[in-house]
Amino acid sequence: MLLSVEHLDKSYKTGRRSSTQVLHDISLSVNQGDALGLVGESGSGKSTIAKCLLRLIKPEQGRIVYDGIDVVQARGADLRRFRREVQMVFQDPYGSLNPRMSVGELIGEGLLVHRLAATAAARRERVAEMMQMVGLNPADMDRYPRSFSGGQRQRIAIARALVIGPRILVCDEPVAALDVSVQAQVINLLQDLQRQLNLAIIFVAHDLAVVRHLCESIVVLHKGRIVETGDRNAIFDAPQDPYTRALIAAVPTPDPQVARAHRASRRHSPATQA
Ligand code: ADP
Ligand code: MG
Repeated sequence: MLLSVEHLDKSYKTGRRSSTQVLHDISLSVNQGDALGLVGESGSGKSTIAKCLLRLIKPEQGRIVYDGIDVVQARGADLRRFRREVQMVFQDPYGSLNPRMSVGELIGEGLLVHRLAATAAARRERVAEMMQMVGLNPADMDRYPRSFSGGQRQRIAIARALVIGPRILVCDEPVAALDVSVQAQVINLLQDLQRQLNLAIIFVAHDLAVVRHLCESIVVLHKGRIVETGDRNAIFDAPQDPYTRALIAAVPTPDPQVARAHRASRRHSPATQA
């Protein structure tokens, strides 16, 4: 087990003396190389789980264990290793990249922070390699985020997360703000990277269509509680919970051929795609 979450509870303060509990007894786990989908409507607590996993906020109850490291308590070398090996891609490709940094600086930042490339030349080389890997043109390294489309910005965010060699990528609705055609490209990219790098991915989404293609196991969240969990086929073919059934009824039929076509065209002209 690479990451496990056991019996997590989380509340937010809503006033001086009041708080609301938004996560109730959340347990889930991910193995190396697995893709887990975390699905639920807006407000169900998906981002709160993601933030707990990344140690951005602290749960009141429960344990999060990453490869033997107690995430909530970790310090020193354990904490540094956790910060390097667990990375996040956020929903908003416009707000999550500092507009004053060039693409090269954005992607290379983690190398500096974690002291993973000794010289500027080594850094640029590694950045160029990452840009290639996510379907961006390395010649664009000195340009700024504003000159890129939403889809390209998510590629930048993915390269930025992957440059330091994480083992888990937590993606919080990474395609929700993108056009549907571009969504398929970014999901296919994540799937390629997952296989290539043997990455574990926790993929947060508010609709099942998006996770169906990528994730072999799915956790369905409703009002801060897990209502169903299982492998993709079981969830789609025989959903047990009424809420899961409602979510499935809302899913438009996915079209894998369209997705494949997008993927092929991306390979042939990486610089011009999304
Ligand atoms: P999701 O990502 O599934 O949309 P969130 O985890 O963002 O859900 O939110 C879960 C619930 O917690 C929502 O009711 C939301 O309004 C509330 N919430 C989220 N962040 C905060 C916060 N910082 N303070 C108070 N309430 C919050
Ligand atoms: Mg959210």
